[in-house]
Amino acid sequence: MARKRVAVVGTGTVGSQAAWRLAARGAEVVAYDRFAPGHDRSAAGGETRVFRSVQTDDGRYVPLVRHADALWKQLQAETGRELRRLTGCLFMGPADDSEMRTVMGIVAEHGLDHEVIDAEAVAKRFPQFRLDHGDLAVLDRRAGFVRPELTVQTAARRAEELGARIRRYTPVREVSPVAGGGVEVRTDSGTERFDAAVVTPGPWVGDLLPDLPWEVGVYRAVSAWFLPDEDHQAGEERPAFIRRGGAVPFYGIPSPDGLSVKLGVSQAHHRPVDDPNRLERTVAPEELEMFSEIVRRHLPGLNPDPVRLGVFMEGYTDSTRPLVGPLPGSDDIILLAGFSGQGFKLSPAMGDIAADLALEGRTTQPIDFISTLGRTAA
Ligand SMILES: Cc1cc2nc3c(=O)[nH]c(=O)nc-3n(C[C@H](O)[C@H](O)[C@H](O)COP(=O)(O)OP(=O)(O)OC[C@H]3O[C@@H](n4cnc5c(N)ncnc54)[C@H](O)[C@@H]3O)c2cc1C
Repeated sequence: MARKRVAVVGTGTVGSQAAWRLAARGAEVVAYDRFAPGHDRSAAGGETRVFRSVQTDDGRYVPLVRHADALWKQLQAETGRELRRLTGCLFMGPADDSEMRTVMGIVAEHGLDHEVIDAEAVAKRFPQFRLDHGDLAVLDRRAGFVRPELTVQTAARRAEELGARIRRYTPVREVSPVAGGGVEVRTDSGTERFDAAVVTPGPWVGDLLPDLPWEVGVYRAVSAWFLPDEDHQAGEERPAFIRRGGAVPFYGIPSPDGLSVKLGVSQAHHRPVDDPNRLERTVAPEELEMFSEIVRRHLPGLNPDPVRLGVFMEGYTDSTRPLVGPLPGSDDIILLAGFSGQGFKLSPAMGDIAADLALEGRTTQPIDFISTLGRTAA
């Protein structure tokens, strides 16, 4: 069979993985990005992302995370880079919280490696957290953090080693189907022809595809880093964490160098972004008050004044389920977008699924619930 020529539009979180998987499977790959792999002006960046086996709200993600898990290992083995560290992830909240109950159901149903820990035991074993009376914690053991900039650059470099070409600082203006099959990709320097295109523009999806029948709202997410009051002791358990319940649900990740803890808040507390080309990267003092309050109330041992800030953006669908599959009216254009705050851990699996769809027209991975096929417009 002739070697397929496939474009990847957007070499960020998912696009870099798609380029790797496509090149590994023998496709001729040309990947484009408006910046360069590993940049921090979009959804990736800020040194860490949580990896966990439990996608907290929906057990259907579990097999996809398993597939991603195997590919995280593979990419690390192929490149010799530490892209992921499994420190565990502690999911905390009121025992009667609905998401807490969903998590307990998912770990039990799928036999995931976990521990349920009551508030008293958390206070002894994890003194860095303050739980309320009636709270509970679930420790997801096959969890930890992944490193976004390093992962994107490593996947992109691996793709290049396998023959992919990356067109850096090259915004794609249009991706369109060609009558009779194939795709055209237009940039400021001309138009190139491909058998298929994988389109992974993250928060720019509405910019690139203005006629998309699904809504992808873009939101601005602030990350803030805090220093501990005392140095950490050797042997201390420092898992990533997610806390539900309370006024502002939040998550946190101890930094890889052990010197600080990064915090983020849930999407309800993110501001909408009107234009991804004009992301406001300055953080106002009133936005930080929420973070300092979280530290004072829930994280004894951290100084409530942040030492570093980062601003990113992410595309959210109404259901928070991503859009994965062919664009309506064009089987050769495969869209992966709207990852709604959960795409990093899944990204190698998403890249592999993109390669399945672009090269074979189908995948054996269970993606019906996130597929574009049969998805109603909203
Ligand atoms: C602050 C924050 C914290 C998060 N925490 C987690 C977490 O803990 N765990 C987790 O799993 N997920 C997390 N996520 C979600 C995850 O980071 C995203 O779902 C994921 O990065 C989205 O990947 P993407 O490929 O869709 O977008 P991106 O990584 O943004 O990639 C899109 C790429 O397309 C390029 N591009 C756009 N338009 C064009 C064009 N026209 N031409 C050429 N190139 C173009 C961009 O430059 C960019 O490189 C978080 C997100 C944020 C913002």
